[in-house]
Amino acid sequence: MTDKTYDVAVAGAGPAGAQCARDVSARGYDVVVLETEEEDAFPSTSNKSTGGTFPDTLASFGIPDDVVQNFTDSVVIESPNSHYVQEHPGGVLDFGAFKQWLVDDGRRKGAEYRFGARVSEPVVGDGRAVGVRYNGDEEVRAKIVVDATGPSAALAEPMGVVDLRRDRQAIGVEYEMENVSMNPDGYADLRGAMMLRLDHDIAPGGYSWVFHTGGDTAKVGVCYIQNEVHERRADGETVDGYLERWIENDPRFEDAVRIDGAHHRGSAHVQKPESMSAPGLMAVGDTVPSVDPVWGEGIGKCMRSGRAAGVTADTCLQADEFSAEAVSLYDDIWHDRVAPNVDARLLLANLLYEVPNERYDRFMRDLRATDDEVLSKANEGSKRAMMKLIHLGDVPALARVGRRLLSPS
Ligand SMILES: Cc1cc2nc3c(=O)[nH]c(=O)nc-3n(C[C@H](O)[C@H](O)[C@H](O)COP(=O)(O)OP(=O)(O)OC[C@H]3O[C@@H](n4cnc5c(N)ncnc54)[C@H](O)[C@@H]3O)c2cc1C
Repeated sequence: MTDKTYDVAVAGAGPAGAQCARDVSARGYDVVVLETEEEDAFPSTSNKSTGGTFPDTLASFGIPDDVVQNFTDSVVIESPNSHYVQEHPGGVLDFGAFKQWLVDDGRRKGAEYRFGARVSEPVVGDGRAVGVRYNGDEEVRAKIVVDATGPSAALAEPMGVVDLRRDRQAIGVEYEMENVSMNPDGYADLRGAMMLRLDHDIAPGGYSWVFHTGGDTAKVGVCYIQNEVHERRADGETVDGYLERWIENDPRFEDAVRIDGAHHRGSAHVQKPESMSAPGLMAVGDTVPSVDPVWGEGIGKCMRSGRAAGVTADTCLQADEFSAEAVSLYDDIWHDRVAPNVDARLLLANLLYEVPNERYDRFMRDLRATDDEVLSKANEGSKRAMMKLIHLGDVPALARVGRRLLSPS
C-alpha cells in the first residue's frame, strides 16, 4: 500500500468500468482501474459477449470501426413458424478487441491499469467507501470507488447496494461458427442481420440467436433466465446442451463447424435495481444490473451507466462531497438517461419469456401489423404502446409475471 489517494478507483475493466475510466481521466482526474484478469491473456473469461450493438452507442463513445466484426442492416425476430424483419443498422463487435481498445484509450487519456488485481471488498472509513482491498491484503485508496465487476458485484454486495438474485440470473453461451447457411429456403435471410429467436423448444424461458459476422460465419447462442418459467419448460438439459441440440436440429447448421477457441459464456441479472450507490461508492453496468431486460443489450447501457458515474464523480470531486446524497446524483441520471421506464420494460421482458410458443407466432403477425413508431415506443417502455401488442389471452401470463416480480427474494 502507498500513501497515494486516487480521485477514482474502478474495480473491473468491462465496458462500464473502462468507459467510466476513459471519461474521468479525460477530465484530468487521477484514476486507477483494477482488473482481476492477467494482462497478457486479457480478456479471457470476461470475453463473454456477442457484441451486438447499435449506431447510437458506436457514435456516442467513439468506438472505432476496426473493432467491429460486421456492420449489419437488419434485426430479425423469429418464432417457431414465422419471422419479422426490421431494417435497422447495427454492428457486431469483436468483443475482445473492443475491450482491449477501451483499455488502450483509457491509458492514452491518463488512466492507470493494474491487471491481475482481484478486488475483494471495499475499504470503509468515516461511514463511506474510501478504497478497495485486492489480492488479499493490498489496498488502494480513492475519494470515489466504482464497482464495475459485473455480476460478481464484489463491492456493491458487501456495501448492501445490490442483492443479485439467482432466479433473476440469465445465463448464455455461444459459439462462433463457419459454413452457416445464412439464407436457405423457408427461413429469413440472415445475411447482414442480428437474429433473435423466441422458441421454448430451443431456449426454454429465453431466446437464441444468430448474429452474422461476415461471409458464411456467425455467432450462434442460447440464453435463458434461471427461473420457474425455464424450469416448467426445461427437460434437464444444460445451457450448452440446448445450444448443441439446436445446432444439431436446425438445417442452417447442417454443414456448420465451430471456429476453434471462439466460444463465449456469461451471465447477467434481469432485475430491477433497488439502489445503485452508497456514500463514496457507485455500482455500474451489470453490477447494478443495467442490461436491457427485453433484448439483452448490455454494452450500450453499461457504457452509459459508466458515463453517468463519471459525471457524478466529477460533480462530487469538484464539491469535495461524497455523502449518500451527493453520490445519489448517479441514481437520478441512471433512471433518467440510462434505463428509463425500467418497470414497464421488465414487465414486457418477463411476459415475452412467459407466453407459449403459439403466442410467439401471433406476436410476429402483431409486429408486422404495427407501425414502426408504436413499436419503437413500446420498446422504450411506453405502456400505451405496449398495450397495442398485448391481447386478452395474455392476462393470465401477465398475472403470473406480476406475482413473480413482486415476490420477495
Ligand atoms: C453470452 C452473452 C452474450 C451477450 N451479448 C450481448 C450483445 O450482443 N449485445 C450487448 O449489448 N450485450 C450483450 N451481452 C451483455 C454485455 O456483454 C454485458 O451487459 C456487458 O459486458 C456488461 O459490462 P460490465 O462492464 O458491466 O461487466 P463485465 O463485462 O462483466 O465486466 C466486468 C469486468 O470486471 C472484471 N472483474 C470481475 N470480478 C472482478 C474482481 N473481483 N476484481 C477485479 N475485476 C473483476 C471482469 O474480469 C471483467 O473484465 C451479452 C452477455 C452475454 C453473457
